[in-house]
Amino acid sequence: MPDVDLAIVGSGFGGSILAMIARRLGLRVALLERGRHPRFAIGESSSPLAGILLEQLADRYDLPRLKPLAAFGAWQRAYPDVVCGLKRGFTYFKHHAGRRFAAAPDRSNHLLVAASPHDAISDTHWLRADVDAFLMREAAALGAEYADEVQLESLEWDTGGAAVLRGHRRGAALCVRARGVVDATGPRGFLSRALGIGSQSFPGYPGTQALFSHFTGVARCDEMADYTGAGARGEGPPYPVDDAALHHVFDGGWMWVLRFGNGVTSAGVAVEDPLAEDLRLADGEAAWRRLLDRLPTVRDQFAGAAPVRQFDWMPRLSYRASAAAGRCWALLPSAAAFVDPLFSTGFPLTLLGIERLAGLLESGTFFGAPRDGDEPRRQVGAVSSLQAYSDVTLAEADHTAAFVAGCYAGFPRFDDFVQYSMFYFAAASYAEIARRVAPERAAVGFLRAGDPAFAPALRTLSPAGGAARRADLGARVRDAVAPVNIAGLCEPGKKNWYAADAADAIAGATKLGVAPENVAAALAALGF
Ligand SMILES: Cc1cc2nc3c(=O)[nH]c(=O)nc-3n(C[C@H](O)[C@H](O)[C@H](O)COP(=O)(O)OP(=O)(O)OC[C@H]3O[C@@H](n4cnc5c(N)ncnc54)[C@H](O)[C@@H]3O)c2cc1C
Repeated sequence: MPDVDLAIVGSGFGGSILAMIARRLGLRVALLERGRHPRFAIGESSSPLAGILLEQLADRYDLPRLKPLAAFGAWQRAYPDVVCGLKRGFTYFKHHAGRRFAAAPDRSNHLLVAASPHDAISDTHWLRADVDAFLMREAAALGAEYADEVQLESLEWDTGGAAVLRGHRRGAALCVRARGVVDATGPRGFLSRALGIGSQSFPGYPGTQALFSHFTGVARCDEMADYTGAGARGEGPPYPVDDAALHHVFDGGWMWVLRFGNGVTSAGVAVEDPLAEDLRLADGEAAWRRLLDRLPTVRDQFAGAAPVRQFDWMPRLSYRASAAAGRCWALLPSAAAFVDPLFSTGFPLTLLGIERLAGLLESGTFFGAPRDGDEPRRQVGAVSSLQAYSDVTLAEADHTAAFVAGCYAGFPRFDDFVQYSMFYFAAASYAEIARRVAPERAAVGFLRAGDPAFAPALRTLSPAGGAARRADLGARVRDAVAPVNIAGLCEPGKKNWYAADAADAIAGATKLGVAPENVAAALAALGF
């Protein structure tokens, strides 16, 4: 391999998008992959915040071929062969072991939160085998030196400060010399091992495990009477409940069901250790069947389903490195930490990290030598150094873990989970619009991790807090999120069905510090 400026290890979507950006910045890039595309990868459900981040990265770094991946309609028009699924919102059904689910007329056992008003601008589920192969090819087409089937064995720094990566590729020795290294290999990945970076657990976070596969023949809930009962009698739900990240929630864990456009459905569970042990999750498919036997209505949904690949068992889901960057090296957020698939936090966290690293590469700060010339362009939530990048990356992971721990604690009392989840929906919807009309308002980080009022409230009101259950949880959450609630959330009258309504965002313009016309114009440009 020729000498390069930046070696990126791992060609998931994170590594490839960063490689594309680095090429646009004129850097010589090596993209090194252990496997071979196309290959299976988990982590499939996008979100509005991920969409706007993709869009803004594409605009900022002149990557027009990346931009269609930000929304379902544009994606279908530009890349009909790259498989994705339609995600109109977030659907949750609460189940009790051994009992059939029946949608309660007062909707108290389900929650529907729309993320978009119609299909064209909706979010997507990414069939990662397709998407990651596409992005890798895009990075290579922009001039990244791509090598697959690479076994990296060591990382040293030479006397000039360059990184020297050594390993093998198809039996031949491989050596890459680079001014900087980014690890995009996921949790417990390459740099964590090569640099001996320690790990630590998230305080107060439950031990959780996962089991998942891809299936054909998964029934739609909106064709099953148990789920449609409530809606069928009155108004319809705000979006088709299956064209969404659909969650079956139960005490001790939850299941995701994500449909792709090719008839395949991704499904899996994340459960706390005691339930995982009870189900003997390590058994794979047999454990999956044991879980379905406890949830009769979910079992019906999977009655005609067949797995199309083996089950993957992850004995420990969460991971947190003790550092995310050092001199001329960095871990993507997805390599530095992972909490849980709940609320699809992986994509936006990864893309936020890419945005920050791109800023450091653009200014030259990544390599310790800021480029001469113009002041770096302003960027939302920019960091000034690799140390700051590390700090904010780990702080966001800790904040996300505190939130998800609260959700797990809320599962047994579904109403607590519903109330507490409003922290996520309020912060995410605010960030999405703020990025369009008032970028500085989105600079406090993911899930408002750096907001001095919002972040402590999220922790204080957590159902995992150990305090006695708060009868006024809903009211207190409503007050805490009020300054950023521009999505009409926390309204008891809506009875757990939240449509995506432009009027809410326009009415919330003052919370963004702009005129209602600005919000209306931004939403119109978006296609709302
Ligand atoms: C069960 C589960 C479900 C999830 N669901 C969601 C979701 O719905 N929504 C969401 O937003 N996030 C989700 N996530 C998180 C999401 O998977 C990650 O945020 C995302 O995959 C990060 O992408 P990436 O490209 O950085 O890394 P990855 O997708 O992990 O890709 C890493 C790449 O590096 C390669 N690699 C690994 N080791 C080496 C090595 N030593 N040398 C060279 N190459 C190497 C791998 O082959 C792979 O190609 C989920 C995670 C899990 C575990």
